[in-house]
Amino acid sequence: MLQVVWFKRDLRVQDNEALCRAAEHGPVLPLYIVEPGLWRQPDMSGRHWAFIREGLQSLNRELAQLGQPLIIRSGAAVEVLKALLHRHPVDGVWSHQETGNAWTYRRDEAVADLLRERRIPWHQPRQHGVVRGQLDRDGWSRQWEALMTAPRFTPPILQAVAETEPGGLPDRPDHGMPDDPCPGRQYGGRAAAEQALHSFLEQRGARYHLEMSSPRTASSSCSRLSAHLAWGTLSMREVLQATRRRRAQVKQLAPAQRGTWGRALAAFEGRLHWHCHFMQKLESEPRFEFENMQRATAGLRDEQCDPIRLSAWKTGHTGWPLVDACMRALAHTGWINFRMRAMLMSVASYQLWLHWREPALHLAGQFVDYEPGIHYSQAQMQSGTTGINTLRIYNPVKQSLDQDPDGIFIRTWLPELGGVDREWIHTPWLMPEADQRKCGVLIGRDYPAPLVDHEAAARFARQQIQQVRRTSEARSESRSIYDRHGSRKRPQRSPRGKSQQPDLFNDGS
Ligand SMILES: Cc1cc2nc3c(=O)[nH]c(=O)nc-3n(C[C@H](O)[C@H](O)[C@H](O)COP(=O)(O)OP(=O)(O)OC[C@H]3O[C@@H](n4cnc5c(N)ncnc54)[C@H](O)[C@@H]3O)c2cc1C
Repeated sequence: MLQVVWFKRDLRVQDNEALCRAAEHGPVLPLYIVEPGLWRQPDMSGRHWAFIREGLQSLNRELAQLGQPLIIRSGAAVEVLKALLHRHPVDGVWSHQETGNAWTYRRDEAVADLLRERRIPWHQPRQHGVVRGQLDRDGWSRQWEALMTAPRFTPPILQAVAETEPGGLPDRPDHGMPDDPCPGRQYGGRAAAEQALHSFLEQRGARYHLEMSSPRTASSSCSRLSAHLAWGTLSMREVLQATRRRRAQVKQLAPAQRGTWGRALAAFEGRLHWHCHFMQKLESEPRFEFENMQRATAGLRDEQCDPIRLSAWKTGHTGWPLVDACMRALAHTGWINFRMRAMLMSVASYQLWLHWREPALHLAGQFVDYEPGIHYSQAQMQSGTTGINTLRIYNPVKQSLDQDPDGIFIRTWLPELGGVDREWIHTPWLMPEADQRKCGVLIGRDYPAPLVDHEAAARFARQQIQQVRRTSEARSESRSIYDRHGSRKRPQRSPRGKSQQPDLFNDGS
């Protein structure tokens, strides 16, 4: 009797609990399903597929070395599984729990119905610190720690399964999928993942906490592990354990050799907790993909986005140079650092006063590391709709002065501003006309003036949101959102047994 291992967002053989446990029960059929329906969803993009495709090629090589290559099938998961069950005597299906989007949630329900009907058990171990069915956050950190410090799973030896067509990897997962060139994209697959992990822990990460905020330095000083964690070419447990080993090693070094490593690695380890902390929000309340966390803020912004503002923001033509440079860098590379992601979202939501959903969908498609649980929770946090986080409205000019003082990043991604002096690079719309002519950049012709006065727009946004937040309805909703989703450094309990006080600091802001 066969065990089907259905690979989803866990494209690795190392530390793969589903694969290892399945192999303990009998011969394994390792399966990946290319689901055209998934790829038609507005949050999925060609760059995701390109990264996954490389991951699948690498997974196939690793599985073949273990004894049984990957089987690839295209179609709806239920239909693919029905066909396999028809052909093979299957004793169990194994896959890691997935905190995906609404489409994968419904697909999983349909698969569960099928397997229940056929009396075939579906085993779904956890690979992240996300806890299914968790009603609040008390005790959550302890569970995270237990899972992440447990021994890693060693790749098993596999028996070859007879008479199985391997199937091929399509260039596109769905015929109608538009082209999505992303020439500066990170490479997928296990070798690239290991290389990123080791180069970060041994070399690139020394100044992580000091250089993570500027888009100039972040691309090499941040770990760049997000896409590998999102699609599972590395497990979170592998990353956490490697980080702790490195921290222990650094502690043994003489102070001169240790340099900034101690603080860098501590800051990095904190982010690994945030990964699962944010995913837990969507796992607990899947409606966050579509609806404001704090219902009291619904209706603040029109769900139909102003098409001119949205298009200017998406294409990098808002008139704020750092915002536009980040958006164009993202289009080219599929990655941008946390602070700049937050600024992009904040500018869309506050200064441009757009509902978060359309901008979030655009960014989801642009980020190679798209992870729905982190993504929608962060998008809402940067839009003021969570009810539990401090309102943080990024000033695009201040960020520009702080993070790219000489305008080097801006000039790299906005060649039309190449001739603009340092004095005007952050606010080209203020440049006198004579200077515009001198440097060959006419505002309104070669580069746009900002769509709105960013300071007045930010003031308006703050007033609107604070007005809602002050209502008693919003306050009581905030308390229950915090009980359910707020992070706890340590579980705190009030005399009534309820957790209290939003911990605003420890929430990835
Ligand atoms: C609007 C918005 C959308 C985002 N969407 C995503 C997304 O779809 N996928 C995604 O992985 N991250 C997302 N992030 C979080 C964060 O920006 C990225 O995880 C990070 O920039 C990835 O680069 P890195 O791997 O070099 O990160 P590092 O700084 O090296 O951090 C290591 C790991 O910690 C986790 N992490 C780091 N920062 C955060 C954070 N603030 N919240 C949650 N986890 C974090 C990630 O898994 C990351 O790979 C989003 C942030 C914002 C503001």
